[in-house]
Amino acid sequence: MPRPIQATIHTESLRHNLARIRLAAPDAKVWGVVKANAYGHGIERVWEGMRGADGFALLDLQEAERVRALGWRGPILLLEGVFEARDLELCSRLNLWHTVHCDEQIDMLATHKTHQPHRVFLKMNSGMNRLGFAPQRFRGAWTRLDALPQVDEISLMTHFSDADGPRGIAQQVKVFEDITRDLPGERTLSNSAASLRFGAEPMVRADWVRPGIAVYGSAPDFPDHDAAHWNLLPAMTLASRIIGVQHLAADDTVGYGSNFTADGPLRIGVVACGYADGYPRHCNTGTPVLVDGVRTRIVGRVSMDMITVDLSPVPHAALGTEVTLWGRASNGTVLPIDEPARAGGTVGYELMCALAQRVPVAVE
Ligand SMILES: *Cc1c(COP(=O)(O)O)cnc(C)c1O
Repeated sequence: MPRPIQATIHTESLRHNLARIRLAAPDAKVWGVVKANAYGHGIERVWEGMRGADGFALLDLQEAERVRALGWRGPILLLEGVFEARDLELCSRLNLWHTVHCDEQIDMLATHKTHQPHRVFLKMNSGMNRLGFAPQRFRGAWTRLDALPQVDEISLMTHFSDADGPRGIAQQVKVFEDITRDLPGERTLSNSAASLRFGAEPMVRADWVRPGIAVYGSAPDFPDHDAAHWNLLPAMTLASRIIGVQHLAADDTVGYGSNFTADGPLRIGVVACGYADGYPRHCNTGTPVLVDGVRTRIVGRVSMDMITVDLSPVPHAALGTEVTLWGRASNGTVLPIDEPARAGGTVGYELMCALAQRVPVAVE
């Protein structure tokens, strides 16, 4: 028997979450964001669940090739645009739309030989200060692009820094609006958090929304709101089984560094899952897990191949009992990925993206 750890991708959840986004941002077209191998889920594995999107947004040319190989003839957007001039050849060949966020990318386009002009998304840095033209330079870039025979339609894009937090998006929306008001072209502004929280505003949802994390079932603004609040379902379950049981007495310790000490008799289960599977080592004592669908906690340190869990709430647990690290247990109980993520000082994004190669993945 193989080591019992297993990830499962839930096709129905992906469909459901996509529908949730459409409800939150009515009449906007939806980019299914599948960068980072569909946030660790696997582009091919999410395909059935996400093919109902209007387009796919990603970063890697190889990932764009994989989406085309799946038979997708609709829009694909390179969220960071091209990295060097010859990438444009593949854009022409695969008919990829691409972001333009700096002068150098316009220079590359200006010398690119193509029969088919490109659709580009001109990106404004409206306050995040990562990629994009500063507001006062945006219209100059637009004029330059507009004059190029290599460019067909110009769409307008920006990205929010605080869509999930108390600062919100109003300031960035205003900056974007002030500069772009009279420019033609489609607009795309909103990630998952903006789509869910502010998608009712036509200016915010605009022509396209770009949800990633919500499609995968994680609440973008956890812990202010959880996945249940947004009616999102987990797209990934990481499950394993108990492979050993120990009976501790008072003052016994567990695992490396002995950083958990039992204060009385305690039954613990050893689970086949560790940081080499992508489970964060920062998830220390207290991190929630489900054993046979019942909520309990990690005790002691996460090691490379194993974790140890408190079996007190599940006295019937034994060798082979199901353990759910995140996602949905067999009895239907859900442990949102956001909970262990938070216990480990990070976010659901990082956990799903870090699912290790050695974990077998099934699609259901
Ligand atoms: C990753 C990304 C998104 C999706 O963000 P989520 O928070 O996962 O919804 C949207 N837009 C851009 C430019 C991105 O890089």
